[in-house]
Amino acid sequence: MNYLQDELQDLIRFDDSVLEFIRDAPLDGLYYWDLVNPVNDWIDGKLSQSLGFRHKKITDVPTIWRDIIYPEDRKVLESTLDKHLKDDEYPIDMVIRYRHQNGSLVWFSYYGKLIKEESGKPVGVLGVHIDITKFIERENELSIAEEQFRGAFEHSALGMALVSTEGKWLKVNKKICNIVGYSEKELLAKTFQDITHPEDLDADLNQVKQLLDDKIAGYEMEKRYFHKDGHIIWVLLNVSLVRDVNRNPVHFVSQILDITERKRTEEELRQVTDRLALALKGSKIGTWEFDVVNNVLIWDEAMFKIYGVPTDKFTHAYDAWKNTLHPDDLDQAELEVQLAIAGEKEFNTEFRVIWPDNSIHYIKGLALVQRDHKGNPIRMLGTNFDITEEKKLEETQRMMAANESKRKEMEQFAYITSHDLREPLVTIQRYLGGFLEDYGQAIDDDARHYIEASVRASNHMQELIVGLLDYSRLSKEKEIKVVDSNEVLNSVIEDLNALIDSTDAVITAENLPVLKAYPLELKLLFQNLIQNGIKFRRKETIPRIQIQAKQIAGGWQFSFADNGIGIREKDFEKVFTLFRRLHNKSEYEGSGIGLAYVKKIVEIHHGKIWLESSPGKGSTFYFSVLTESL
Ligand code: ADP
Repeated sequence: MNYLQDELQDLIRFDDSVLEFIRDAPLDGLYYWDLVNPVNDWIDGKLSQSLGFRHKKITDVPTIWRDIIYPEDRKVLESTLDKHLKDDEYPIDMVIRYRHQNGSLVWFSYYGKLIKEESGKPVGVLGVHIDITKFIERENELSIAEEQFRGAFEHSALGMALVSTEGKWLKVNKKICNIVGYSEKELLAKTFQDITHPEDLDADLNQVKQLLDDKIAGYEMEKRYFHKDGHIIWVLLNVSLVRDVNRNPVHFVSQILDITERKRTEEELRQVTDRLALALKGSKIGTWEFDVVNNVLIWDEAMFKIYGVPTDKFTHAYDAWKNTLHPDDLDQAELEVQLAIAGEKEFNTEFRVIWPDNSIHYIKGLALVQRDHKGNPIRMLGTNFDITEEKKLEETQRMMAANESKRKEMEQFAYITSHDLREPLVTIQRYLGGFLEDYGQAIDDDARHYIEASVRASNHMQELIVGLLDYSRLSKEKEIKVVDSNEVLNSVIEDLNALIDSTDAVITAENLPVLKAYPLELKLLFQNLIQNGIKFRRKETIPRIQIQAKQIAGGWQFSFADNGIGIREKDFEKVFTLFRRLHNKSEYEGSGIGLAYVKKIVEIHHGKIWLESSPGKGSTFYFSVLTESL
């Protein structure tokens, strides 16, 4: 160092400007390059340290800089010196790279001063070094980052743009040009306000203001742009703001995702859901959603109606559903849910629920299970509808079928017995007749009365058996036809001529239809009801029978009203029972088969029979004929 000091002092003495130069130079290392005799080169310790030498070693071999200077730079240094020698205005000012002892490059800003003898002959160059390695590295990094950003910007799947704080597009990528349909040039001539839907502009500008005021770090919003050809595009916009070192806003960075398709699907879905909700509104079908993960059950309005639960009396939990289930159906219904969630079985089941008023209702439930990409259940979507009516109908049909087979059995029994009874009865009648003929004179009056009473009884028995046989034959060999019930009535009146005449009975009819029916059976039905109406008349009263018909759902309803003795309410059902009579034979003739017969005829017409009556005033028999189902 003393040596260097000596040298410098010499140099300073020799040339005043050297001192000036050293004072002004922001030194990081200093050397002297001897142009005449290389062995006189010298290097200061600071520079030798920067180049990875231990202080001593490099000062021992000062010429070593000539070996470690980057060869290109050495050429530039020499040519710079040449230029300077020719024109001392030309500065010795360049960047020099040296090879560090660890192999890396060290960058210096180099500034040289040419030293001349008094004669003007150049003898050396005094050089100062400023280590700029760190700047160079940072610059490299920056340029790499910038390069990366440029690549990402240009090739992003998102629309990307730099936007001025006033809203002018400063830089746009290809994607955003595609989204809005403008070329880069066209878009750069516009502002984001120009292409934003007016209804979304205020919301956007409001966010922009907050961002500029440093109240938010960035924002995201769904908004609409106008495409160049006029149609609307929905985008998801994400905006951040770049600020300079003094936190002044520089520009916005906007990322834009086209969500038009998603919006359209959402809208379609909303429309479908609205339509579905509307369709379900009147249909009594309830819909429900069960969040499997959080055990939350959500019902729509119709569900509450189906379960008879007021909307506010439900906690929206799975347990609440369980609590409404009929205890006998609970296990099965739960199992069905579990199996559906496990993916083992579709949810399609029936169960009963108990309403708060304790009535029981049958429900049919259908559901789908939604799963995530791993197949785990997320939620169940389902419907419920009340099938109580259907269940009741099923039950009635089942009972009717059971009754029908019982009835058939009975008919068969009645048919066989009545048929078989006729044979021995005919024998009894024949022998009783023969006995009276042959021995009538030989027996006394008492004996004859006995025999005559037996003959009457057996004749009555024959009537009964014939009636029973007719009754049991009813459902066989019959044929549906279109019949005019007016004609049916006329023919009955004709047949009952004698009875009507003898009693002065008045029969009126209104509104009798032409309908589908079993003609013969319908006639017998009319006949029995009219006969009864006349037979059970009040003493000293002219019997009046009024017949009416009216159309009902599925067919016709008839009524036969008389002004006879009437029937007590407790006997309303009994009168339709076979052989059941309310009076004895001495009061009114009869077998007790008529109304049983009538009932059966009504039933084969799929109808019902019933009556209203006030004792002492009269009775009205009603029956229906369901022509539509015949
Ligand atoms: P029958 O007429 O042979 O006695 P039905 O089966 O026709 O048998 O009638 C059963 C019973 O119902 C009758 O015995 C009678 O007591 C009562 N009944 C039927 N029709 C009438 C009527 N129009 N008015 C009052 N009672 C009636």
